[in-house]
Amino acid sequence: MPGATCPCRATLELQAALARGNGCRLNGGMENPLLTLITLPSWGVQSLDCEDPTLSFYAGFFYLPARTVSVETALLHRLIHEARAATLRAYAPFSGFRVGAAVLMADDPARRVITGANVENSSYSLTQCAERTALQTAAAAGHRRLRYLAVSCAATTPGTPLRQRSLCGSCRQVLREFADDETLVLLDRGTVEPSADVFDVERLLPHGFRFER
Ligand SMILES: [Zn+2]
Repeated sequence: MPGATCPCRATLELQAALARGNGCRLNGGMENPLLTLITLPSWGVQSLDCEDPTLSFYAGFFYLPARTVSVETALLHRLIHEARAATLRAYAPFSGFRVGAAVLMADDPARRVITGANVENSSYSLTQCAERTALQTAAAAGHRRLRYLAVSCAATTPGTPLRQRSLCGSCRQVLREFADDETLVLLDRGTVEPSADVFDVERLLPHGFRFER
């Protein structure tokens, strides 16, 4: 936990909140000038109750307990701002659906924010998503550990359903390649004051494939 040994007020508030076992969603009511607490809710998949032994590999209950994480508020705001700005650089003449993404890599000592936007193609099938554009640019620069990925859709306004501003399946698999337990994905809610729905990779892509070398 950042600043765990620092007796500043922000740290004490954070420790108290964690001790209570709860946090808040981003901009969800418990503000802190330096840190934002985010609760990732518990999440599970019901097992398939089937007597057929050939389907027995589906048995079991996939469950993730609730998890509270803390993030620098200023950094969250910056990532959302950068993702929003990137939507202006999208090439989306066919769909008109402009998306921007901003990543910060854990193994980048300069802590640069690398952005990307969706780039469509006349063939349609060769269209590249903003998330992959940003993440693969970071990977091509030599970075391998994703810390934050912020995504913003230009059409998003407060109340836009999550499914209309979330990652597609292909991007989730690419994300899996460079993600770890500390990786957080921030989905812009379109509010004036930047706010986001927050996920870790296990909540976005349970049982995602990863080739272990
Ligand atoms: Zn995608």
